[in-house]
Amino acid sequence: MARKSLLYTLFTTLTLALSSSIPQTDYDVIVVGGGPSGLSALSSLARVRRRTAMFDSGEYRNAPTREMHDVIGNDGTPPAQFRALARTQISKYDTATIIDNKISSISPLTDPNNTTYFQATTTNGTTYTSRKIILGTGLIDLIPDVPGLREAWGQGIWWCPWCDGWEHRDEPLGILGSLPDVVGSVLETHTLYSDIIAFTNGTATPANQLSLASKYPNWEKQLAAWDVRVDNRSIVAIDRLQNGNDHRDNVTDQQFDVFRVRFEDGDSVVRNTFITNYPTAQRSTLPEELGTAMLEEKVDTTDYSGMRTSVPGVFAIGDCNSDGSTNVPHAMFSGKRAGVFVHVEMSREESNAAISKRDFSRRALERQTERAVGDEMEMLWKRVLEMRK
Ligand SMILES: Cc1cc2nc3c(=O)[nH]c(=O)nc-3n(C[C@H](O)[C@H](O)[C@H](O)COP(=O)(O)OP(=O)(O)OC[C@H]3O[C@@H](n4cnc5c(N)ncnc54)[C@H](O)[C@@H]3O)c2cc1C
Repeated sequence: MARKSLLYTLFTTLTLALSSSIPQTDYDVIVVGGGPSGLSALSSLARVRRRTAMFDSGEYRNAPTREMHDVIGNDGTPPAQFRALARTQISKYDTATIIDNKISSISPLTDPNNTTYFQATTTNGTTYTSRKIILGTGLIDLIPDVPGLREAWGQGIWWCPWCDGWEHRDEPLGILGSLPDVVGSVLETHTLYSDIIAFTNGTATPANQLSLASKYPNWEKQLAAWDVRVDNRSIVAIDRLQNGNDHRDNVTDQQFDVFRVRFEDGDSVVRNTFITNYPTAQRSTLPEELGTAMLEEKVDTTDYSGMRTSVPGVFAIGDCNSDGSTNVPHAMFSGKRAGVFVHVEMSREESNAAISKRDFSRRALERQTERAVGDEMEMLWKRVLEMRK
């Protein structure tokens, strides 16, 4: 009787300890986002056998562009082709799952041991649980409502010289955006262009001139040094006159787009290509809903190591985080880095759980043994007493 109850008690207590130390979840990690950052995190985690689900709503920041550049080994690869190859390569890892669906909410939950885990819900109401969350949800570009602008976005009108500047080198360049950003754009592009006009669309106000002077006190001289003209007339439309998709030189990798900038006064100016300075915003409301600390419009990861956010168990990678870098190599780097830190964080938790489990089972065994031996001794003593009667 005593032996059966000892085994039973040990079994039940140990089972309880085993199951409650680490939350029992569908996946170890949920990655939200299927851009280069999310794919990179998924690859990293799958290669160390972490059960990882990557959710992808199919809204990629670089979707409009013709091809990616300055991505070593993939210079000139269309983004969709890059993602498709990554998916194919990752699909050989049996712990990697890709789900093409949008996550509409993520809630932190706690298990009986007070350990936090997460429940993500897709737009069709299916729920998935995981121990950790990695947000690779990206940014959106807040493009002004000027007719023709959005249609040409990423196709002759671009935001970063490393992405598309080389393909339009030495062509007449326009700078679009607010006056305070003009000098920054010139510093980034003057090695590629010598014919530059900044179209500031009414933003060359005294207040903005002061703002620019606070950063570049001699800004007028700097613009003059590069022969940059500022045209402050209000823009009513940007018309495409020629498409660089059709007019390109595949030997020199040059694209020849042509645009006409139309002004309110009826006049117009022709340019081949434009760099822009428009603000960005988080694509997803998930960081805000999870309560991650923000640095301006970015998820703050600078105060925490390994792409961690202010919310324990939640990591942020790629464009959405505050690293100050928004490009494909950074997205891949940060996804990889988060993958390593998430894995090791979970391994530490598992190590601690294994240690406490061992201590727990040893203590339980000692207690049960003491009790069992005590019972046996008592019975023996009783029997000796009876024999002596
Ligand atoms: C026009 C253009 C051209 C560019 N060209 C280049 C270039 O040539 N070279 C370069 O290095 N960089 C380039 N960039 C920058 C590059 O696109 C970004 O740095 C990169 O895409 C960031 O990757 P990411 O994974 O952080 O975000 P994204 O690639 O934007 O991916 C975000 C992912 O999150 C998903 N998502 C968001 N919310 C949810 C949700 N709730 N549920 C599920 N999924 C969700 C989206 O569907 C998407 O899969 C370009 C940017 C633009 C705008």
